[in-house]
Amino acid sequence: MKKRIVLYKRLSEDLMARLQEQVEVTWVDMAQPDGLARLRDALPGAHGLLGASLRIDASLLDLAPQLEVISSVSVGVDNYDVAQLTRRGVLLTNTPDVLTETTADTGFALILASARRVVELADWVRAGHWKASLGPAHFGSDVHGKTLGIVGMGRIGEALARRGAAGFGMRVLYHSRGPKPEVEARYAARYCSLDELLGQADFVCLTVPLSAHTQGLIGRRELALMKPEAILVNIARGRVVDEAALIDALREKRIRGAGLDVFAQEPLAIDSPLLSLDNVVATPHIGSATRETRQAMASCAVDNLLSAVAGVRPPDLVNESAWGVRAAGPQ
Ligand code: NAP
Repeated sequence: MKKRIVLYKRLSEDLMARLQEQVEVTWVDMAQPDGLARLRDALPGAHGLLGASLRIDASLLDLAPQLEVISSVSVGVDNYDVAQLTRRGVLLTNTPDVLTETTADTGFALILASARRVVELADWVRAGHWKASLGPAHFGSDVHGKTLGIVGMGRIGEALARRGAAGFGMRVLYHSRGPKPEVEARYAARYCSLDELLGQADFVCLTVPLSAHTQGLIGRRELALMKPEAILVNIARGRVVDEAALIDALREKRIRGAGLDVFAQEPLAIDSPLLSLDNVVATPHIGSATRETRQAMASCAVDNLLSAVAGVRPPDLVNESAWGVRAAGPQ
């Protein structure tokens, strides 16, 4: 008999057909008012879940005693309690690599848009204010030749470093949990403490995962260490930054600006003070949101799910030790 999976992210027709060949699929549209209730109804029979952007907590897991795998269509796994999934023997998979370059492109889009005031000045033109050639009040600042500070030198961090060093002639500083000699050799990057990076970088780019260690990593003290001309770019997760502290720093022009793709609460509320500041470029979590990359992520998630329910180790297993728990069987 086919195993049952619950799908809560829309897939292209070809991927849906690939899934349906192997498993019985229950589709739940989380955008509908009854989405959560339908998900809860489907969980008792589910062997697998495939989706994204939904916190899967213990109350949902308790409804799914047969669950073998959660295949997340994301690289970030902050919506899951990994330790708890492991204890329950539930495999968790993600979609690394296929989104790296696209997300780094988003990082650079925010760097350029913030430094060159692209959104603010495009709105200014549209509003009919362009009557004469520009003066210093509308000048931006250069990106090329400046210092790029990367917090979290992983896959996306390295893709940013490459763009900065090779494309924009930038000096690259980075902070991670430890130095990476191979990255230093490739991009002439220099490892430093977070405080030193904050004090020297013209662009501080956040590419760490959200975890207990990184939540609030950039708070009031850290923002105060940044140069007044510096720009903060967050393509990681909103809660890596203390948003209230950031709003104060931006309002008081203690830093020059921010390019933000992620927020403490998403979707960002229309009355967020961030949206009333002209030194903020806010995008709606578009890091990986291109047609090509979202299809590649979905395909990767389908591969992971089908492997797991077939009893084969999935390619992008996050919780390695859950594999051991499954192999050991019921205690
Ligand atoms: P990754 O390869 O795992 O890189 C993350 C890096 O952060 C690693 O180098 C890691 O250090 C470092 N790190 C972890 N904890 C740290 C800490 N406490 N202090 C300093 N550095 C720390 O992950 P990735 O694929 O680059 O993705 C990074 C994150 O970007 C994801 O987790 C996700 O939340 C976010 N993201 C957002 C979007 C978007 O749409 N905006 C899209 C994709 C990803 P080590 O090297 O020492 O392990």
